[in-house]
Amino acid sequence: MKTTGIKILLAVTGILLSAIFAVLFYVLLDANYNLSDIGKIKIASVTRAEIQNHVWPSQKKIDVDSIKIFIVPDFHEKKIAARETIYLRKSAAARTVLNLNDNAGISAFSVNGLQTEFLHINSHIVINNLRDSVLAIRLEYSVRPDAGLFFTENQNGKFIYSLNEPVFASGWFACNDTPSDKFFFETSVSVDSGLTVISNGNEIKREVAGNRKISTWRSAYPVASYLVALYVGNYSVLTKKINGVEYYVYSFPQDKDKSEGVLQTMSSAVKILENKLTRYPFSKDKLAIVETDWNYGGAENQTAIMLGAKFFSAEYFKDVIVHEIAHSWFGNSVGVSTWDDVWLIEGGATYCEALYWEALAGKEGYEAAVNSFRNENKNEPVRARKSNLFARTVYVQGALLFDDLRKQSGDKFFPAIKNFLEKYDYKTVDCKIFKEETEKFYGKDLTSVFNRRLKTGCENL
Ligand SMILES: [Zn+2]
Repeated sequence: MKTTGIKILLAVTGILLSAIFAVLFYVLLDANYNLSDIGKIKIASVTRAEIQNHVWPSQKKIDVDSIKIFIVPDFHEKKIAARETIYLRKSAAARTVLNLNDNAGISAFSVNGLQTEFLHINSHIVINNLRDSVLAIRLEYSVRPDAGLFFTENQNGKFIYSLNEPVFASGWFACNDTPSDKFFFETSVSVDSGLTVISNGNEIKREVAGNRKISTWRSAYPVASYLVALYVGNYSVLTKKINGVEYYVYSFPQDKDKSEGVLQTMSSAVKILENKLTRYPFSKDKLAIVETDWNYGGAENQTAIMLGAKFFSAEYFKDVIVHEIAHSWFGNSVGVSTWDDVWLIEGGATYCEALYWEALAGKEGYEAAVNSFRNENKNEPVRARKSNLFARTVYVQGALLFDDLRKQSGDKFFPAIKNFLEKYDYKTVDCKIFKEETEKFYGKDLTSVFNRRLKTGCENL
């Protein structure tokens, strides 16, 4: 996700003597967006205690394999009706605990086909005394999401978009709402046939009956709850297959002429990051960008990136687009086990902005980007922040750690990063794993390098 310190980048290329120099100017547009005013989604003000309270210890003992959900949105009431099945494994003795908004009225509940008693308390569903270790939990409910899923309206009609990060997926569907538990996600959404539905992965089925349709989407790769995507609305779509990957740009109709530039930036960012890192991790799915009414930047919903209308421009907001695409590697493929290490995925994605400018404008482009990170840097804690999980310092200190590692050893940096991304693709890691894997390639202890940026090092906090 990229929400603060939005920069306009003007690339001025001039011929000076016989050489061409690309000069990059970053202008800090507005570093002080107050995220706490987006309804109840207080991204910036989420505290560590709230997250710990949200993920109970029992939730670490379950492993969700897949979620299938049928959704009927009610635009008038701003509610959804859902029929959901969660397939999971758990350790035999463990209590089964999941997350679901307290607003949800649950009308049916069964486990492995049997009606089962449960508690729905403090946005948790608790089921005691289940002997089976493989469970299919089926729920029917109606929920008016106060976080995670948003109903908006503009000149093009009514829209829905999801923004679950960090712990708001359970604002609209039942899940193990922690980044450590990835699952395959399939959703069928029933809407007016004129509306477009977009979710993770591919649309595998579209059934039209009269003026209604059911659009079914499935992810070919596991997804963390915070990256689950759902969009509905009146969209124009531009699509193109490039190097084996389907690209989609879903825009509001009046912004259709900007889609081509967005698509070009997407494909050039993927090409550059594939050269520097590894193959685009979700090639069997797709890469989509979806324009929404969110006014604060973009979010990396897996294979269906959300981009606020103000930022839907390849002319001015290349770095936002590149940042969200870079999360395909840092965050979506290799995820973090807990939000204490959000610096690793935000730092990695932010660092990729510098790699992009390096490919476009050489060393000057790279150094201009890294210098802009240095200028934004504040001497604040990076890991396990008590509040303001997504403070800008998390992004820039994280990015500067990658720059420090590269400056330690230019030869070892990219092989180490490639190995890390390949070894842990579709899995989750923590600070220690990243440090140990990097140290193997560098052949030395990197504690002082990590401590310089992270202050606390990689200790459990
Ligand atoms: Zn981000």
